[in-house]
Amino acid sequence: MAVPTFASAPPPPLAARARAVGGSPVRDILAVTARPEVINFAGGLPAPELFDAEGIAAAFGAVLAETPARALQYSTTEGEPVLREALAGRMSVRGLPTSADDLLVTTGSQQALSLLATVLLEPGDTVLVESPCYLAALQAFAFAGARVVAVPGDDDGPDPSALDALVERERPKFFYTVPTFQNPTGRTMSAVRRAAVAAVAVRRGVWVVEDDPYGELRFEGERVPWIAAHEGVADRVVLLGSFSKVMAPGLRVGWLRAPGVLRRACAVAKQAADLHTPTVNQLAAARYLADRDLDAHVGRVAGVYRARRDAMLAGLGDALPEGSSWTRPEGGMFLWARLPSSYDTTELLGEVVRAGVAYVPGAPFYAGGGEVGRATMRLCFVTQTPEEIGEGLRRLRVGGGWSRSSPRP
Ligand code: PMP
Repeated sequence: MAVPTFASAPPPPLAARARAVGGSPVRDILAVTARPEVINFAGGLPAPELFDAEGIAAAFGAVLAETPARALQYSTTEGEPVLREALAGRMSVRGLPTSADDLLVTTGSQQALSLLATVLLEPGDTVLVESPCYLAALQAFAFAGARVVAVPGDDDGPDPSALDALVERERPKFFYTVPTFQNPTGRTMSAVRRAAVAAVAVRRGVWVVEDDPYGELRFEGERVPWIAAHEGVADRVVLLGSFSKVMAPGLRVGWLRAPGVLRRACAVAKQAADLHTPTVNQLAAARYLADRDLDAHVGRVAGVYRARRDAMLAGLGDALPEGSSWTRPEGGMFLWARLPSSYDTTELLGEVVRAGVAYVPGAPFYAGGGEVGRATMRLCFVTQTPEEIGEGLRRLRVGGGWSRSSPRP
């Protein structure tokens, strides 16, 4: 029997929010930085040789040998109680009294961002962010259809009086901030500004999303208290944390500390997204905390990162054109450079990658685009050895085509 033929109708289109998130030329260029010969300052990758693979393997081995039925089974959406207890203990000794019930375990802190976007944002709602801002947070908020408005700031972080005025004018659902060793700038918000941000949240009634994946990676200086630890903000500050930068990003274990109503809404959204974060990873992370000394491990990692930061700081003066400036982070993984305004780091990237080194151009980190970030770049200083960093900076000078005595127009 002959098979009837039909005209082929195309399948329905993607949702508008997915269509709006297109490809990017920068992403295409940076794809080639996976080649081993490229010294990649663009990635945000913790140094893999510093992972405590032996300790993590022992933790997985123990939970799989001793409690396999539990480790390999479905778990609750809120997260494994033994992990939440341990996390609550760590927060409490750092000056933020926390109980296990205050926490939701998330699949990396990135998931916390998308859960918050899901439960807080209607399309068209306004979100305030730092300027510049963590790129994948901008993406998560864009996916939820948010209107993103940048709060101006300086080396001490966002300006609280500008924040106050924007909260009054824009009526945002939340203000998103990475107060310590920010991605992308490496800057840390001063204690005075944190108190002022907390005061704005109290006075104006706005959520503050405090994202802190880097805070433990401090090389020098004094720890600055979380915004979440300030008086009167318990019902409006959400604190996000993650093991990605201190244990290993492949674990995908993060957490969210939030007041009950918001935390329960996030748990329902998480159920729809992935039911729960992998049980075995949660139990292994908890076992690691019980059997090993994570703080000592982080101390060792911070020592190595500090030497790498110093290598980058020492070489930047020769690597960038005359008139450039850059941040000097006290911890974390990134620093931020600003070239004279005649330069366009997006345009220069192709040439620089051909010279065998990569950075991330700064423009995409600015909400709303425009000219403001044209001459900026993010450099990750933790993935290479000091020698490789020196070589990468030499290539940057060559690839950029500038020399200190004769800056390009
Ligand atoms: N927030 C910030 C500021 C980050 O830099 C990152 C990772 N680059 C994340 C959240 C997400 O990290 P993860 O999901 O691995 O915890």
